[in-house]
Amino acid sequence: MTQVFNPPVRTLMGPGPADVNPRILSALARPTIGHLDPEFVRMMDEVKRMLQSAFQTKNALTLPISAPGSAGMEACFVNLLEAGDKAIVCQNGVFGGRMKENVERCGATAIMVEDDWGKPVDPNKLEAALQANPDAKVVAFVHAETSTGVQSDAETLCRLAAAHDCLTIVDCVTSVGGTEVAIDRWGADAVYSGTQKCLSCVPGISPVSFSDKAVAAINARSTKVQSWFLDMGLVMGYWGENTKRAYHHTAPVNTLYSLHEALLILEEEGLENAWARHREHHTALVAGLEAMGLSMVVDADCRLPQLNVVSVPAGVDEAAVRATLLADYNLEIGAGLGPLAGKVWRIGLMGFACNKTNVLFCLGSLEQVLREQGADIVAGSAQGAARAAYAG
Ligand SMILES: *Cc1c(COP(=O)(O)O)cnc(C)c1O
Repeated sequence: MTQVFNPPVRTLMGPGPADVNPRILSALARPTIGHLDPEFVRMMDEVKRMLQSAFQTKNALTLPISAPGSAGMEACFVNLLEAGDKAIVCQNGVFGGRMKENVERCGATAIMVEDDWGKPVDPNKLEAALQANPDAKVVAFVHAETSTGVQSDAETLCRLAAAHDCLTIVDCVTSVGGTEVAIDRWGADAVYSGTQKCLSCVPGISPVSFSDKAVAAINARSTKVQSWFLDMGLVMGYWGENTKRAYHHTAPVNTLYSLHEALLILEEEGLENAWARHREHHTALVAGLEAMGLSMVVDADCRLPQLNVVSVPAGVDEAAVRATLLADYNLEIGAGLGPLAGKVWRIGLMGFACNKTNVLFCLGSLEQVLREQGADIVAGSAQGAARAAYAG
């Protein structure tokens, strides 16, 4: 007979979802109220205000889409692009490839600017593409590429795009809460994020933000947005300011409680403190990994602290290591994707999961499993190096 599903208690140190703060889990269990209840509407306004701070923006059109990060991505493309438009997509990993798919499904043309996986987007290549395509309407890129552990220079890329009269679409799914996202300073026009990475919330919601320039472009469309559900004009009927809130879809009421709690936790900690915490634990993790003779794939100057990509040493069965960590330690780390499949592990230090206990646990577990596979590592070296890094 089917029984109650009791999930195992894991430590989630992969590319997301990350460990969820128990405060956020308990917020989910609060009583469900109506999605037009005045008390719920009051909470929605707080969510919007806290999202503006997390994104560092004054954009009025800042709200959570009731669907995962991929829906936030799609919302940006379908609202800004019409059939026949041209978009420049910078790709340096998995998610840039999905952007291309989105552009093409809008009936628009994607001009690809490609960089190697493990490298940031090269602003010189973008500049060349902008000069070669003066009719481009949009530039899209990923700020924090979760597939490779690389952070690109969003401010420089947004400035270049604006200088050529292009709107920007920026994927900040993995960056918000882990490293700085500054929509207004960058001059980014359409930004989307996710809840299950550095916000340590449950999956299923995608915060988005649109600049006034982006809103003007949406209002100037000559055709309807192809997606009814993601049409921001309609979504605003429910989330908008100073309007009577109208039913658009039934909001995921309890999931939004959890987002409210996650944003409150981030506000209590402070953005700068959260970024500094990610850097501190990343430094200790890298010290431990390198003490085991493992090497980081990404250059230090563009590494994401929240997503650490490390090479699998020769002679080690990478899938077997992950399977053992999961079975015997309840520890999840991520595999490589695309050209990096089988060659790397992706170790996440996202949000609530980014702490000293997890760093030491991960290093100790990984070291033991590698030693069992015959790796030549002195027992205790990984944790020793991390503890030395913490001691400064
Ligand atoms: C996780 C992720 C997404 C997709 O988010 P989902 O919630 O899985 O749909 C998009 N972009 C990046 C960079 C991500 O890391």
